[in-house]
Amino acid sequence: MNYPPEPFRIKVTEPIRLISPAEREAALKTAGYNLFALKAEDIFIDLLTDSGTGAMSQDQWAAIMRGDESYAGARSYHRLKAAVEDIFGFKYFVPTHQGRAAENILAACLVKPGMYVPSNMHFDTTDANIRARGGRPANLVIDEAFDVANPHPFKGNMDIAKLRAFIEKTGVDKIPFGMITVTNNAGGGQPVSMANLKAVAAVYREYGIPFFIDSARYAENAYFIKVREPGYEHKSVIEIAREMYALADGMTMSAKKDAIVNIGGLLCMNDESLFQQVKNELILREGFPTYGGLAGRDLDAMAVGLYEGLDETYLAYRLAQTAYLAGRLNEIGVPTIQPAGGHAVYLDAHAVLPHIPQAEFPGQALAVELYREGAIRGVEIGSVMFAYPDPDSGQMIYPKLELLRLAIPRRTYTQTHMDYVADALARIQQRAPSIRGYKFTYAPELLRHFTARFEPL
Ligand SMILES: *Cc1c(COP(=O)(O)O)cnc(C)c1O
Repeated sequence: MNYPPEPFRIKVTEPIRLISPAEREAALKTAGYNLFALKAEDIFIDLLTDSGTGAMSQDQWAAIMRGDESYAGARSYHRLKAAVEDIFGFKYFVPTHQGRAAENILAACLVKPGMYVPSNMHFDTTDANIRARGGRPANLVIDEAFDVANPHPFKGNMDIAKLRAFIEKTGVDKIPFGMITVTNNAGGGQPVSMANLKAVAAVYREYGIPFFIDSARYAENAYFIKVREPGYEHKSVIEIAREMYALADGMTMSAKKDAIVNIGGLLCMNDESLFQQVKNELILREGFPTYGGLAGRDLDAMAVGLYEGLDETYLAYRLAQTAYLAGRLNEIGVPTIQPAGGHAVYLDAHAVLPHIPQAEFPGQALAVELYREGAIRGVEIGSVMFAYPDPDSGQMIYPKLELLRLAIPRRTYTQTHMDYVADALARIQQRAPSIRGYKFTYAPELLRHFTARFEPL
């Protein structure tokens, strides 16, 4: 046995089907070689994202039946409020339809043109929401994060010296708030240590900068702290989560990850005047403050899922499943970010396809190849997603890593599915030198990976 057996059994099934190689080739062509444009039914194993793709539990489905669809002050809202207060402890919160809605509202309230928002690494939607308000995101993660093979246990940590230097250079008046992402999705699903969170909070506090945690994977991060950070092995994951959030002034969260719901998000804060502004913006864009763009039933599923995500038996299985896939890939010579992240395995596309330059998108080429080989969908996290022209010089700035991310939906796929993925990659390894790069035939300015179209070179 390779990892703890799933701590659940299957009560409802969803069929998946494997279409033929010729059908896959035709599907790729129609999609402009962008896997976001494929029909989901043409995918056998979908590792595009762990966002909203998890399997809800019987308790969550039961909670959905209890959903109270009252426009204002629904019982569902109060159940969610109790869970949010119990786990995160902020004074104020609003539900949002997903994480980026929380980011949009926070940015609308606080980011003005020419301002900067530091973080370890901003996720793509956070990055884009700051840019969309004329702001500039700054990524100040420790250098170890860019060293694929480095086994540092907390590669999501902020570089405290870089953060200090950044604040001194930029000026406090140009920094409306500071962030950190747990776990660091864009940098490999790597956790942030409690010691680092404390140090980051202390720096932000010293300069009077409000501290917001991007909390999509708060539970996986808390569990990594439990198993990797001395002094936390005897604390429960929920206690660790409470300790993390006591350090912050607020948080944004996509509940589609660790809260194991198909849709939902949160924006929390302690500042009352910000809360007033947030409510006005929310009413304009999302809905009344007690439902925030969701149905009452969604709020109830989230209230239950926030606790299920913290279950330690589940977390032990979850993190071991990810590590298992990474281990199998490493065995066949496919390098992945070390150590394995929480929610996903990040393949070093540059190492698999060293002959494809960054301008020809090696991550995208590997993503297309994996679909071609096994009808498996992953996502490029590299130059398609993150290469931007520098706003001052106009020169293209390429990201440090070219990755293919295989995100693992929660409680959804079994070990046999993981083995199928590893076997497909082993076959790709064999013919890697013959794989070619891609060029854009269409690309929008922001978040271009979602809608871009490509042509093979
Ligand atoms: C998913 C995610 C978001 C955005 O959330 P959505 O629910 O997809 O809008 C923000 N930050 C991180 C770290 C994420 O993983």
